[in-house]
Amino acid sequence: SVLFSIDQLSHRYADDTIALKSLSLTIKQGKKIALLGNNGAGKSTLFLHLNGILQPTSGKIYFKGKEVAYNRKALLSLRRQVGIVFQDPDSQLFSASVIQDISFGPKNLGLSNEKVLERVEWAMEQTETAVLKDKPTHFLSLGQKKRVAIAGVLAMDPEVIILDEPTAGLDAYYSKQIMNVLNIIQKQQKTIILSTHDVNLAYEWADEVVVMHDGEVLCHSDPVTVFQQE
Ligand code: ADP
Ligand code: ADP
Repeated sequence: SVLFSIDQLSHRYADDTIALKSLSLTIKQGKKIALLGNNGAGKSTLFLHLNGILQPTSGKIYFKGKEVAYNRKALLSLRRQVGIVFQDPDSQLFSASVIQDISFGPKNLGLSNEKVLERVEWAMEQTETAVLKDKPTHFLSLGQKKRVAIAGVLAMDPEVIILDEPTAGLDAYYSKQIMNVLNIIQKQQKTIILSTHDVNLAYEWADEVVVMHDGEVLCHSDPVTVFQQE
């Protein structure tokens, strides 16, 4: 079934940069989707629209058939279902310890302490971060920070997980570790959307590849079809 339907979405930033140009895209439930495109193609801007951080300059976004609305209540509900892992983990890790950081989201959902702990332990297990739980986040390596940021989003148990360049800056070993985490998450029937510059990763991992350039979608298909065209 269709999860996101994006209809002629345009975004113009305050300095008049046009980051998205009448972009239309359909995202189906349960798929692994890779967004490819050079720096400035509009990938991050698109992601910020998918959980309502940015509002369209024009065009519409539908989530599960309902038009995304920008009031507090609607946004809270959207953000519970659509989790984002930002490219720079320092922008989302701010607690004194790893376990506090991972607990922050589920605590905010108003779950019982028992339920929060259950979610957090599960998320730490999926991301192999349990051994780090008492460490202050600012002492972690980039690869560890990225896994903790993913754990924090997982602990919210969203239906959709968006990751902005999850393997950027990581060597092959740590990239593989992140991809293993994503493969485990995929088994929970979640929809995963990530951006990457890594063509091999997109080819091997994704069910669907979306190539963006200059605020537009150049092509959207299965990896074999997309890479045959290049
Ligand atoms: P990437 O292409 O690796 O995703 P960018 O260099 O495009 O990263 O952007 C990094 C950060 O800087 C993002 O948060 C983006 O929103 C912001 N940014 C990019 N370009 C501008 C700009 N012209 N003015 C202000 N902020 C920008
Ligand atoms: P990508 O993630 O594909 O690198 P972005 O969505 O970060 O692309 O950027 C798309 C365009 O929007 C770029 O020209 C970038 O410089 C610009 N941009 C991104 N964030 C901002 C911002 N906060 N203010 C102004 N321009 C921005």
